[in-house]
Amino acid sequence: MSGKGFPNAYRGRIAPSPTGLLHLGHAQTFWTAWLRSQAASGVLILRNEDLDRDRARPEFAEAQRRDLAWLGIRWDEGPDLKGPVGPYSQSQRLALYQSVYLQLQSTGHLFPCTCSRRDIASAIAAPHALDEEPIYSGRCRGRSPTDEVGLVSESLRTAWRFRVPVGEEIIFEDALMGRQSWVAGRDFGDFVVMRHDGMPAYQLACVTDDHAMGITEVVRGADLLVSTARQILLYRVLGWKPPQFAHCPLVTDAQGGRLAKRNGALSLETFRGQGWTPEEVRAIGSKSTEGYGLSIKP
Ligand code: GLU
Repeated sequence: MSGKGFPNAYRGRIAPSPTGLLHLGHAQTFWTAWLRSQAASGVLILRNEDLDRDRARPEFAEAQRRDLAWLGIRWDEGPDLKGPVGPYSQSQRLALYQSVYLQLQSTGHLFPCTCSRRDIASAIAAPHALDEEPIYSGRCRGRSPTDEVGLVSESLRTAWRFRVPVGEEIIFEDALMGRQSWVAGRDFGDFVVMRHDGMPAYQLACVTDDHAMGITEVVRGADLLVSTARQILLYRVLGWKPPQFAHCPLVTDAQGGRLAKRNGALSLETFRGQGWTPEEVRAIGSKSTEGYGLSIKP
């Protein structure tokens, strides 16, 4: 059993951030999530990951729901439907993240970090290809929650990082990509769980919600494989059983680049506007969109 009170039943989720329109990559991942929940006669949850105060917009959340429904995906619980483990928008769950953060802090897993983005960038020995987040230099890792910085953290630009067990190999069996192995401190460093603006970071919110919502399988893009290794460490220290993970290969653009919401890349709305049917969009499936002759919105 993963999470509270949902023995044996499959509970999957799709968790878009409402920071732009859904693109072909989301379509592939979310369609896979839907198929897997259907195959297991399970429940699929829609979770609105709207913690990015600068970029999240309710109108994007609405447009995403419209695109998901157009694609043929149906969810059983979500911000528009309610359900037993709501609310389903992360901005309405801050008290829960705060309690988990305090639990991590009081058990000595976090340290206060005052490094600026500049400090972190200039301390990187080599750019890291696997992940967008630079490996943290460890400058503040000797700090304790009760040192001067920790005690006055609310008035400083202080983030709270999880101290990873350097050198430890994190191994998991991915349902789609097979055995995965990541080394803490080499493939990823001490990561932020509470940001300096007091908002929970993705890793904390995601683990808290997947556990609290009784999720048994997480289907998401392969760009999050290294985050899964981070999250497994959080599950472990919180004493929670991790769900199963299934990471989908990334869809790339004609140049082999990653699709990103921010450049409007191959949005589902564009496909719909050009007269594609949901069946045709779902069938693209190939790793590259080269040759589809699409006009990509600027
Ligand atoms: N909200 C994340 C995104 O849109 C997905 C996170 C997840 O599935 O764990 O990329």
